[in-house]
Order: sequence, then C-alpha cells, then structure tokens
Amino acid sequence: PYDILVVGGGPAGVSAAIYAARKGIRTGLVAERFGGQPLETLGIENLIGTPYIEGTQLAQQLKEHLKKYPVDIMNLHRAVKLEKKELVELSLENGAVLKTKAIILATGAHWRDLGVPGEAEFKTKGVAYCPHCDGPLFAGKNIAVVGGGNSGIEAAIDLAGVVAHVTVLEFLPELKADKVLQERLARLKNVTVLTNVETKAIRGTDRVTGLDYQVRGQSDLTHLEVAGVFIQIGLVPNTDWLADTLELNSRGEIITDKAESTVLDGVFAAGDCTDSRYKQIIISMGSGATAALSAFDYLIRN
Ligand code: FAD
Repeated sequence: PYDILVVGGGPAGVSAAIYAARKGIRTGLVAERFGGQPLETLGIENLIGTPYIEGTQLAQQLKEHLKKYPVDIMNLHRAVKLEKKELVELSLENGAVLKTKAIILATGAHWRDLGVPGEAEFKTKGVAYCPHCDGPLFAGKNIAVVGGGNSGIEAAIDLAGVVAHVTVLEFLPELKADKVLQERLARLKNVTVLTNVETKAIRGTDRVTGLDYQVRGQSDLTHLEVAGVFIQIGLVPNTDWLADTLELNSRGEIITDKAESTVLDGVFAAGDCTDSRYKQIIISMGSGATAALSAFDYLIRN
C-alpha cells in the first residue's frame, strides 16, 4: 500500500505530494487531469514571489517540481469511490483499487457555467470567473457581473473599486445576497443593478464587447456594452463521488479542521474541494502542505 495517496493534480494535490514525498514515505498521486484549474487560466499575477506566469506554464512547473521526487503519478485516472477499511481504499473508474494508509483529497472545483452562447468562446477573452484574479485586467472599463448572490455582490463591490462601471444582472426578482452587502452595494455610484433579467448571450469579436439580456416574461432583447462579464453563479466542488463517505457542507465542500483532517481518520482534504473560505492557488498550495504534514503526523502516531 501507499503511505500517502493524493487525489488531484492541481496546486493543492501537487503541494501535498511534494511535502509527503520529502518525508521519504511511499507517495502516489492520482489525477483526472494533471494541472487542474490553472490549465484554464491565462495569466496569474497573484502567486506571491512569481510576478507573472501563464496557467499552462504553472501546470508544467508543478509537474517538473513533482518529478524531482519519487512519486507514482497516475494521470488521466478518475477516482470514483473511497472506502475506509483497515486501510483506505480508492476505486478508479477503470476498476483498479489503490490501497493507502492515509489519503489526501484535493479534487478542486469548477465554476458553474451560465451555458449561454459566447460564454465558452470568450473564456479568458473577457468572460471571467474570479474577481481577485482578473479584476485589474478591466481597470477603467465597463463590466457586468452575472449573479446576485453573496459571491456576485462581493465581486461587484470589489470590482467597482477597480473598473469604471459595474452592471449586476440577477435572474430572480430580487438580490439574494446578505443585506449588509446589498446596502454597501447601494452606496456605490458606479453600480447599476438589474433584477428579474436573464442573460441570453455574450457577444464579441476577438474579445467580449457586450451581452444581451431579456427582462423575464418579455420578448425583446436589450444589448449592454461591456468589456468583461464576470459569471458568479457558484463554484462547484468536485466531490459528488464522496457524498456518501464524508461530511460535506450545503455547498458540497468537504468539511475540514485547521489540520485539514476530515471526519474519517486518515482521510485529509485540501484546496478548493474543502470548505476553505477563499479559493486561490496560493491558499490551495498552503492547504496541501498542511494536509501532508497532518497526514505524516497521523502515520507516525498509528
Ligand atoms: P484544482 O486546480 O481544481 O485541481 C483539482 C485536480 O483534481 C485536477 O487535477 C482534477 O483533474 C483532479 N480531480 C478532480 N476530480 C477528480 C477525481 N474524481 N479523480 C481524480 N482526480 C480528480 N487563482 C489564483 O490564485 N490566481 C489566479 O489568477 C486564478 N485565476 C483563475 C482563473 C480561472 C479561469 C479559474 C477557473 C481559476 C482561477 N484561479 C486563480 C483559482 C485557482 O485556479 C484555484 O483556486 C486552484 O487551482 C485550486 O487548486 P486545487 O488543487 O484545489 O484544485
């Protein structure tokens, strides 16, 4: 069996595997798609100590760093079941079962898509999901935020300080965000809120130039000229296969403590698949390191 098996090949998983391997223990890493979300990212400017790096290059460097250690890398394998017996048993989609003394789940998350024409086409060309990451790219421009829940309104408040003007589009007749956020938003002069509207399409040429929306129940489309569209309708953790085994919160995130332990002994979790407050590369890497050190501590005590 492995001493520590990591599931996930993004920033959290790679960090966990390197920290584990540096303890001289038998370490494996299974990933459906090595690299994780950075593969979908154009430029990263907030990985402290690295002023700028492209997402695909970061994924490449994660692999190079990992390969300096004797870690069994099993790429293009999807984990489908976790069982805690005497050891932890991880079933893969191809039928293989991997056994390990401790496991670190780092399966990340994905942004919920709006599913309208133009969204996929203009990803990283004006369609954005992360205000902390991409806000400064739209300095001085007009943008839209789709989604009026807490994350949408937090994004709108954040972006209003950076861009020229923000239009918030919410599908429901009223915003769903906490009252204090709505009050804060209402005090901002460069924000317009549209409720009861459905975003129908994102338009552009080589980059986003606007979007079309419809007041619900009416037939005509209205065009809004914007240089960017931030989609804030939810970040979905990749944990559906764990719902029967682990404690998840209402958003489906794995509940962990400060040591990144879960409710099951020997099972740890790190990064965007957990209930960590903020989802960022630097935070995921720190959380992977914490999980590996905690898993090592678990091994020497059991
Ligand atoms: P992920 O990167 O999501 O990696 C998860 C890994 O688990 C992947 O390898 C995946 O294939 C694997 N996996 C999932 N399910 C399974 C399974 N069942 N079996 C096996 N493997 C599985 N953050 C920043 O700090 N700065 C930025 O500029 C920035 N820009 C971003 C831009 C975009 C477009 C996106 C989408 C995200 C951005 N982020 C940015 C967020 C950042 O990418 C994430 O916070 C970070 O990648 C999370 O790391 P992670 O390892 O927890 O998860």
